[in-house]
Amino acid sequence: MKLDDKLYLVRFNTDKLNHIKIINGDLCLKCKDRVCTFICPAHVYDWDEEENRIAVGYEGCLECGTCRVACPHGNIQWDYPRGGFGVSWKNG
Ligand code: SF4
Ligand code: SF4
Repeated sequence: MKLDDKLYLVRFNTDKLNHIKIINGDLCLKCKDRVCTFICPAHVYDWDEEENRIAVGYEGCLECGTCRVACPHGNIQWDYPRGGFGVSWKNG
């Protein structure tokens, strides 16, 4: 099963408020491995070549919390989505 298919099984109630923020975009420019772009199981982080910044697709976040711990610069401000928003597991 491809990840996209798996994600289809997950129901989201997307909050208009982004619960993930990159604190300092300059740090990402200097960041060597950009671990956020490959460690996230939902592929929320993508390097945007044109804008030279990390694009955050927070709507797909599975709230595992990995990115916050993994960023070597502590550059991800991460909060749980507000109550009632975010992911709700069908078979969780
Ligand atoms: S790992 Fe952290 S510092 Fe590096 S690109 Fe991602 S958010 Fe930016
Ligand atoms: S909390 Fe998990 S799913 Fe959400 S963006 Fe971070 S690594 Fe990806």
